[in-house]
Amino acid sequence: MKTTVAFIGLGAMGYRMAAHLPKHFDTVYVWNRNFAKAKQHATEFGTQAVELDQAVQADIIFSCLPTSQDIDDLIQDLKIKNGAIWVDCTSGVPDAARRQSEYLLKNNIHFLDAPVSGQTIGAENATLTFMVGGSAEAFQIALPAMQAMGKLIKHVGDSGAGFAVKAVNNMMMAVHLCAAAEGFTTLKAHGVDLNEALDCINASSGKSGVTETALPQRILNRSFPLTFALPLLAKDTGIAIDLVRDARLSAPILGLTQSLITTANSLSEPDSDFSTAVKMYESWSKITLD
Ligand code: NDP
Repeated sequence: MKTTVAFIGLGAMGYRMAAHLPKHFDTVYVWNRNFAKAKQHATEFGTQAVELDQAVQADIIFSCLPTSQDIDDLIQDLKIKNGAIWVDCTSGVPDAARRQSEYLLKNNIHFLDAPVSGQTIGAENATLTFMVGGSAEAFQIALPAMQAMGKLIKHVGDSGAGFAVKAVNNMMMAVHLCAAAEGFTTLKAHGVDLNEALDCINASSGKSGVTETALPQRILNRSFPLTFALPLLAKDTGIAIDLVRDARLSAPILGLTQSLITTANSLSEPDSDFSTAVKMYESWSKITLD
């Protein structure tokens, strides 16, 4: 396709997501703060490692940074191509999306909040889910580029709606993680074989994404591979709880989960995977989930 595309932020997600773009677009710019990663990406996947000023001359500009604050810092003073669409795949803050959208629109640049789920394996296999907020017209224009990296791509509402869906999704995943840690600790205390129990639960009504993937692939086998950092999950549960507060709702389970994840994060080693949150329960109960 003639459309030029750029990807900014080649972290655990961005590096793998951007790898699919050259299969669909002739010109794919990549930029990363640690520029060696951009050069490595270009060598590996046929993208073009360019300076940030050039990357933002693309028609469609993807970004995937840790937080909305990082995006705020980045877009200030950038001379972005007139008419471009900025697709931010960061798991960000809905209010920031509305602010960034307004700011960019002054220069005729559309901003879509387009966070993803599916983890690094979904990024690698181009099977991510995109939940997108912002202008429906900009969504349609950017859709083919998102389709290069994802499987289910949904326009969920106005600016900020995508970030809201992502934050609530991750909060629910955190609820399931805490529930699984508590449930499986209890089973182990009663002498139950956890792997056999897991098979039963995954064929029963108590199953969740956590029991289907995190428990067998990260926790019970004690591998805890770092693909989604615990501080990022704590950031997401924080965004979700702010949404609850803004709406003046009562959500006791979400509030408690937010406290638990914040505590687990403060107790954990740097560079810990989200699944290591169960180690907090293990240290309380002196029971290892294996
Ligand atoms: P990583 O920490 O692996 O990567 C972060 C990327 O952002 C790196 O390229 C880093 O550059 C860059 N970066 C960090 N700070 C800045 C800054 N101030 N200015 C410019 N670039 C910066 O994160 P992930 O890829 O895991 O996550 C990115 C986003 O995607 C997060 O919002 C996360 O919540 C979300 N997400 C993550 C998933 C996962 O499974 N990992 C799944 C779904 C969503 P450098 O290389 O120079 O450090």
